Amino acid sequence: MPKDIECKICGGTDLTPCLDLGMQPWGNNFLRENEIGSEPLYPLRLIYCNTCSCVQLDYTVPKEVMFSDHTYVSGTTETLRRHFEETAKKADAALPESAEPRSVLDIGSNDGTQLNEYRKLGYSCLGVESCKKVADIAIENGIETIVEFFNLETAKKIGRKFDIINASGIFFHLEELHSASEGIKEALKDDGIFVVQFLYMKNIVENLAFDQIYHEHLLYYTLKTLRHLLNLHGMEPFDCYLSPIHGGSAIVYACHKGTRPVSDNFTRLLQDEETAGANSLKWYKDFAIRVAQMKEDTVAYLKKKKAEGKTIYGFGAPVKGNTFLNYCKIGTQYLECLVEKNPLRKGLYSPGMHIPIILEEELRAHPDVYLVLAWNFKEEILRNNRHLVEKGVEFYFPVNPKGV
Ligand SMILES: [Zn+2]
Repeated sequence: MPKDIECKICGGTDLTPCLDLGMQPWGNNFLRENEIGSEPLYPLRLIYCNTCSCVQLDYTVPKEVMFSDHTYVSGTTETLRRHFEETAKKADAALPESAEPRSVLDIGSNDGTQLNEYRKLGYSCLGVESCKKVADIAIENGIETIVEFFNLETAKKIGRKFDIINASGIFFHLEELHSASEGIKEALKDDGIFVVQFLYMKNIVENLAFDQIYHEHLLYYTLKTLRHLLNLHGMEPFDCYLSPIHGGSAIVYACHKGTRPVSDNFTRLLQDEETAGANSLKWYKDFAIRVAQMKEDTVAYLKKKKAEGKTIYGFGAPVKGNTFLNYCKIGTQYLECLVEKNPLRKGLYSPGMHIPIILEEELRAHPDVYLVLAWNFKEEILRNNRHLVEKGVEFYFPVNPKGV
């Protein structure tokens, strides 16, 4: 572990390594053919803070590398689109009645898919997105978007306040965590709601969804550790619900401190964390043991299929798939290609393992086996591919999470 590192939340230095996923490329760095082998590798390791219980990466890839140019667009699956719709409707219902038109700010607004759901409810919408390529998609669809990193300075420049501030996932990418939190405090109306969605570490560990750990995600929260962060900035969570999206997510509602009663539901979920031991070092050490076992099982399965002469493709080329492939060292010795929907990844190669990506529509024939990398969409994938399953194509899910 590098010396002199501090917990990003509390500044503590009593930190213990708990999961080492090896040297990994930046997972979103899909490569052109002439770039193969030139991609830098960075440590991907989780450390546990013995002071505030937060789990985080011990190495930060500069944000200019990660967020100025990437190929992730939100609007690619039906499951996600429905999830965004639900997020907007529920948040709207949690606001007090008002005759005024409502406003929403989305931090890390991506291609505007989430804001579009608020727009359907009559909201005036503003997005902040650091990647120009995906921000342009939103702008073309008529959603006002500022191409910048969000922090206190950005909030002051925007100069107005919002009924809802939404941050999905991106909140946990933020290198300038404290400045971004202050920006949220600055831009939130007195009775506004901050809707923050994140990978819920209790469920991630229970579901063995370790591939959700990648360099963009610097911090991994439980409700207890998120509350700690918000408290530092004069805000507090007051309600929450859980969703199977991304292998286990929590959607937390927060407000300016003391402006709303904390729900019984939130208190109960906090209690569940304590009962499970989800804020203890032991919890994460056990996780590491299960992750290593899963790698062994998956590689053994692929070896067996190869020995039987079967063809194997990867199903999907999500960023998290790269964590999985690089950790398990699964490359073209097993997978001939990765079959992907997102046209921005056409003709590229996966970072680290250098597996070629082909688009679904380019596919001439199906393999004998699909290793499913986007396994958190299990239900949708099996539903959409029932005809292949019936024809005998095998879909192998390395992880079988509960309730996904
Ligand atoms: Zn800490």
